[in-house]
Amino acid sequence: LIFLGIESSCDDTGAAVLRGQPGTAHVLSSVVVGQNDLHAAFGGVVPEIAARAHAEKLDTCVIEALAQAGLTLAQVDAIAVTAGPGLIGGVLSGVMCAKGLAVATGKPLIGVNHLAGHALTPRLTDGIAFPYLMLLVSGGHCQFLMVRGPQDFTRLGGTIDDAPGEAFDKTARLLALPQPGGPSVEAEALKGDPKRFPFPRPLLDREGCDMSFSGLKTALLRTRDSVMDGDALRIGDRADLCAGFQAAVVDVLREKTRRALALYLAESPAQPTLAVAGGVAANTAIRTALMDLCAETGTTFTAPPLALCTDNAAMIAYAGIERFALGEVDDMTLMARPRWPLDTASPSMLGSGK
Ligand code: ATP
Ligand code: FE
Repeated sequence: LIFLGIESSCDDTGAAVLRGQPGTAHVLSSVVVGQNDLHAAFGGVVPEIAARAHAEKLDTCVIEALAQAGLTLAQVDAIAVTAGPGLIGGVLSGVMCAKGLAVATGKPLIGVNHLAGHALTPRLTDGIAFPYLMLLVSGGHCQFLMVRGPQDFTRLGGTIDDAPGEAFDKTARLLALPQPGGPSVEAEALKGDPKRFPFPRPLLDREGCDMSFSGLKTALLRTRDSVMDGDALRIGDRADLCAGFQAAVVDVLREKTRRALALYLAESPAQPTLAVAGGVAANTAIRTALMDLCAETGTTFTAPPLALCTDNAAMIAYAGIERFALGEVDDMTLMARPRWPLDTASPSMLGSGK
């Protein structure tokens, strides 16, 4: 099967071509065009600007992805597109583009849940078998998912407020470090003392896998102001703040993952696997903590390469292949959805909107 995938749910426009079957697919091309320059002046993604940029970039992304794959649209078997969740204007741009291509070519159209795309990526990159435990940890999401099948997800818990990536980005902003905050805070943390400032470990005393990261940001702001010398933040203080903040995030993620693993192991003790996806999985301290935890519990650890961990269309094409193999296709009534819980991963499982 040859699938074209289209992604436009946030601030990356993507198109990709994949060849293969569930569990054995190859990425022939994956084009991602970011929009950081367009939003930089506003300190965050502006939905209107994002939607317009997607509408402008989608066709060239599709053309480029086909060219890199050395294929024509006629050689594609089906078109998969992110139908939510995300910024509605962007999702609509992608869905409209995919519908246009499907009508023009007569190829099947498959709507994909963006989170299912992230959650199924380890099957694309490592061919891992169901079931597995997934920690999705990015700029917009943080949740533990039990993945039993292409459309069988159970959420074990997640953040009740900010996502860790968002917390890294806000920390960077408060400390005048460049965006995206993850890599700059991580680099700064390497130079600092993680023990100097005691940051809270929110919800660690509470049972279950839920997490909270918004209090960390407040703690960081308070601590920063307490060490500031007028308007200036000393270099050493900044490094210590980053190290302390990151250590708190690492501790929370490690301990909550320990609990999620216990829940998962109680149900699926044979050949347990933890897969981590999302931009925050790029963080070496977080990755190392999770790998150590896996080693401790005899769990296989896997994390897709970064380019497939952050938003991309290859994961959408792949999730489309998985849905198509179940005999599911959509038609022109496919809707763009701003919200779309993963436990209703198939658009046909949603009561409304059809
Ligand atoms: P989503 O995919 O959930 O809609 P998103 O597109 O913002 O959200 P990703 O592209 O998966 O998320 O990841 C970007 C986030 O990852 C940013 O918040 C960024 O700061 C964070 N990040 C990237 N590298 C690192 C790192 N080394 N350490 C910590 N965080 C990181
Ligand atoms: Fe995403």
